[in-house]
Amino acid sequence: MPERIVLQQADISRALTRIAHEILESNRGADGLVILGIPTRGAFLARRIASLISEISGTTVEAGSLDVTMYRDDLSRGRVRTPSPTQIPHSGLDGRVVVLVDDVLFSGRTIRAALDAIGDIGRPRIVRLAALVDRGHRELPIRPDFVGKNLPSSQRERIYVRLAEVDGEEHVSIDDE
Ligand code: 5GP
Ligand code: MG
Repeated sequence: MPERIVLQQADISRALTRIAHEILESNRGADGLVILGIPTRGAFLARRIASLISEISGTTVEAGSLDVTMYRDDLSRGRVRTPSPTQIPHSGLDGRVVVLVDDVLFSGRTIRAALDAIGDIGRPRIVRLAALVDRGHRELPIRPDFVGKNLPSSQRERIYVRLAEVDGEEHVSIDDE
């Protein structure tokens, strides 16, 4: 099957705006929020969500990025990865409400690693999870609190997330590997 576009730029933008509203609703405002994205694309999505929340609520919400490379459970399987920078707001994570953001949620292993990485930095009061796309196939008891789009996929399929900041174009598509 050819690559099929499932979210256009406007759909992505609406989904992120909805997620920003949902985060504000579940947190009853912007107090204590830190939006932490998993590089590469999750970090850009986190920045966008943080600015949307700031715009909507009138309170500045900080964004950061969390590299999980060294916390992965498949490090010893020889997959070589280049770590990305971790950038945590100066105010830290202790007592905060951290919203982790990733572009695609699949097995859940990246998020498990992210929880370990957070544990080495501080002790948030709450950690929640937002994903632009949930493609299913979880291997761990992990479930997103905020989802852009549920895209049930076969194991063979791959989701392509293209964001303006990284790819110079913006859409989500699905394709057989
Ligand atoms: P997991 O650790 O849940 O198996 O996979 C999630 C991580 O791998 C995310 O950081 C995500 O970027 C990447 N990933 C897994 N499956 C896909 C996919 O189909 N498309 C894209 N773009 N990324 C994926
Ligand atoms: Mg990713």
